[in-house]
Amino acid sequence: QRFPVVVVGAGPAGLTIGNILRAASVDCLVLETETREFIEQRPRAGVIEEWAVRGLQQRGLADTLSERAQLHTDCEFRFGGQRFRFSYGELTGTHHFVYPQPLLVTDLVREYADVRGGEIRFGVHDVQLHDLDTERPSVSYVDAETEQRVVVACDFVAGCDGARGVTRAALPGHAHIARHDYGIGWLALLAEAPPSNDCVVFGIHPNGFAGHMARSPEVTRYYLECPPGDDPENWSHERVWSQLRQRLAATDAGPLVEGRLIEKRVLDMHSHVVEPMVFGRLFLAGDAAHLTAPIAAKGMNLALHDAFLLGDALAAYLTKGEETGLDGYSEACLRRVWDYQEFSQWLSEVYHGTSSGDAYRAGTTFARLRRLFTSPTAAAAFAEQYLGTAPAY
Ligand code: FAD
Repeated sequence: QRFPVVVVGAGPAGLTIGNILRAASVDCLVLETETREFIEQRPRAGVIEEWAVRGLQQRGLADTLSERAQLHTDCEFRFGGQRFRFSYGELTGTHHFVYPQPLLVTDLVREYADVRGGEIRFGVHDVQLHDLDTERPSVSYVDAETEQRVVVACDFVAGCDGARGVTRAALPGHAHIARHDYGIGWLALLAEAPPSNDCVVFGIHPNGFAGHMARSPEVTRYYLECPPGDDPENWSHERVWSQLRQRLAATDAGPLVEGRLIEKRVLDMHSHVVEPMVFGRLFLAGDAAHLTAPIAAKGMNLALHDAFLLGDALAAYLTKGEETGLDGYSEACLRRVWDYQEFSQWLSEVYHGTSSGDAYRAGTTFARLRRLFTSPTAAAAFAEQYLGTAPAY
C-alpha cells in the first residue's frame, strides 16, 4: 500500500489534517488505535477560540459547530467571598465558542470518512514508524480485523497521536523536550447537571482552586484542585459537592445545581514542548508535540493551529511543490505554543497561589487579581491572552 501522507491519530489535529488533504485531493490514511464509537464519545475539551473556529469555517469544517456552539463573552472570578465579572467580549468584541470535543471529533470523522472519502483504520495496534530520515518513510501497524501487520509506504508522516502516542518516541535521542511539572492535580468532573451560572466561574480559595464550565444545557464540567496523583475514589459525591460549594461560595451567588458525577478523574498538571516539531519526514502536531496542562483550556486550540499549518503546508507541497510552509512549520507553531505555555503558567499562579500555604504567594496572587479589575491595561492584556487573539504569532 502507498499513500502520500499517513496520519497517526484521529483526534482534532489528525482529522483536521486529513480533511484539508482530502479537500486538496491528496490521498492519506488515518490510523487510530481506538474505535470510532470511542473517539466520538471521549469527553475532554470544550472551549474553542474564535480564530480557530474561523479556521475551521474557512476549510468547510464548522457547519454544525456554527449552528450549535454556545458563545461565551464573560467569565467570573470568585475570591474573598466576592464575585468579579470579567466581560472580555465587551472589552474586545471577541468571544469563546463552547462546543464539546466529542462533537467536534464526530463532525470531523464524518466529513473526512463519509463525505470526503478519506481512508481511516480504527482499532489498529502496534504502530511503528520506519526510515523517517529518508525520502521513503513507511508506517506499519497490526490490522484490527486480520491481525496481520500491514506496511504502508508514504512521503510524509503526520504524528497526531496525542500525549501518550508512539510518534514522539520515534524522535532521535538528541531531540529537545522541555518539561514543566506544576506539582498540582485537578480532579476533573463531569456532572449531569445544568450549569449553575451564566458563565465560566473560577473559584480562588484557600482550600484550592475550583472551576465551573458549561458544556451543554444538561452537563457541566467542574474542576477541584487536589494533590497530584490523588485517587478519584477519595472524592465521594458528598465531598465533591461540599468542596465545590465552599470554594465557589460568594455573596449573591446562586446555589450550585447538583447532579450525578459521570466523569471523575485526576489530571496531574504538567506540560512539555518538543523542539523542533519535525524530524526528517515526521511532522508532529497537537498534543504529540506539546502537552499543555488544561489550566487555560488551550490544548485543543493549539492542536487546531498546528493542523491548519501542517495540512495547508502538506497540500501546497504535494500539489504545487511549494516548500515554504513545511520549512517554516515548526517555528510558526512554536511561537503560539510558547505564548500559551507562558499564559498557562501565569494563570496557574492566579488559581493556585492562595492555596499554596505560602502567605507571600497568596499576597501576590490577590494583587494580580485586583489589578485585573482596576487597571484597564491589565484587563486588556489578560483578555488578549485568554482569547488567544495576540496578533504576532
Ligand atoms: P488527541 O485528542 O489526544 O488525539 C490523539 C488520537 O491518537 C487519539 O484518538 C488516540 O486514541 C490516538 N492514538 C494514540 N496513540 C496512538 C497510536 N499509537 N496509533 C494511532 N493512534 C493513536 N483543550 C482546549 O483547547 N480547551 C479545553 O477546554 C480543554 N479542556 C480539556 C479538559 C480535559 C479534562 C483534558 C484531558 C484536556 C483538555 N484540553 C482542552 C486539551 C485537549 O483535549 C487536547 O489538547 C486535544 O485533544 C489535543 O488534540 P490532538 O488531536 O493533538 O490529540
